[in-house]
Amino acid sequence: MGNLSSGKLSGKTALITGAAQGIGAAIATLFHNEGATVYITDIQEELGQALASQLGDKAHFITLDVTREDDWQSVMGRIDQLDIVVNNAGITGFLETTGPHNPEYVDMESWHKVMAVNLDGTVLGCKYGIQKMKGHGGTIVNISSRSGIVGIPAASAYAASKAAVRNHTKSVALYCTEQGYDIRCNSVHPAAIMTPMWDQMLGTGADRDAMIAAVEKDIPMGHMGTSEDVAYAALYLASTDSRYVTGTELNIDGGILAGSAAPPKKHD
Ligand code: NAP
Repeated sequence: MGNLSSGKLSGKTALITGAAQGIGAAIATLFHNEGATVYITDIQEELGQALASQLGDKAHFITLDVTREDDWQSVMGRIDQLDIVVNNAGITGFLETTGPHNPEYVDMESWHKVMAVNLDGTVLGCKYGIQKMKGHGGTIVNISSRSGIVGIPAASAYAASKAAVRNHTKSVALYCTEQGYDIRCNSVHPAAIMTPMWDQMLGTGADRDAMIAAVEKDIPMGHMGTSEDVAYAALYLASTDSRYVTGTELNIDGGILAGSAAPPKKHD
């Protein structure tokens, strides 16, 4: 990511969940570059502390397990001013649970664990974000997924959780307008972004490159995205560049969602 900053977030304070690595870390870094004070939150304390130290004075790390309401209350108690919340923490459940995750044999404990992080975590972030920002205004960016828009048979809990995040975003957006709060809320829908989440799924075996090639074959733009690609979308939605935008969804997916799997073809 370039170091050129236009100070789009000067004077703003942002809290980003799951920000010790991957997409969250890129968002925290870009926001910091753009002049924001950033609260990097995560359950990965060492990585989160290291990122905060690397960024400098206006970056702070606080441990926050997004599933724990008492954590949210204590974090909000430690922050004076808050203008931006990015609900980014998420898990596929593939490594964190035993599964299976398909609709026929889904293991309910695994289902609830995925829902707790991806959906409850976002709901709590919106709840405490609204309460904290309603007096002066702010923006909420929820990181959903391509999987929140289409079905994923092998990851039905993940897909359902991300679909619920997409929908909750719209309820939050409308609730805030109804209440007269100057708070916008939008969702971002990444797909195939190379992060530690994908790294773990791909493993380090001999078939890693073949697996990446198989993923990239189905991406219209022909390659996976980077965390920075998603961070720029979050910056747009967090800044006044998007001041007339609420309840919308922004796909960052190399064109995956633009088409269909069996398009009609003209044969000459
Ligand atoms: P990542 O590399 O796994 O980073 C996510 C971070 O969130 C990790 O540090 C993780 O810690 C942390 N986390 C997990 N559970 C948490 C909890 N209960 N409270 C607070 N933090 C928690 O993931 P990523 O790929 O950057 O994904 C970020 C977001 O983008 C997720 O919501 C994901 O679903 C979404 N997304 C990603 C892609 C993609 O292609 N990468 C595509 C679509 C959507 P642990 O390492 O301990 O789990």
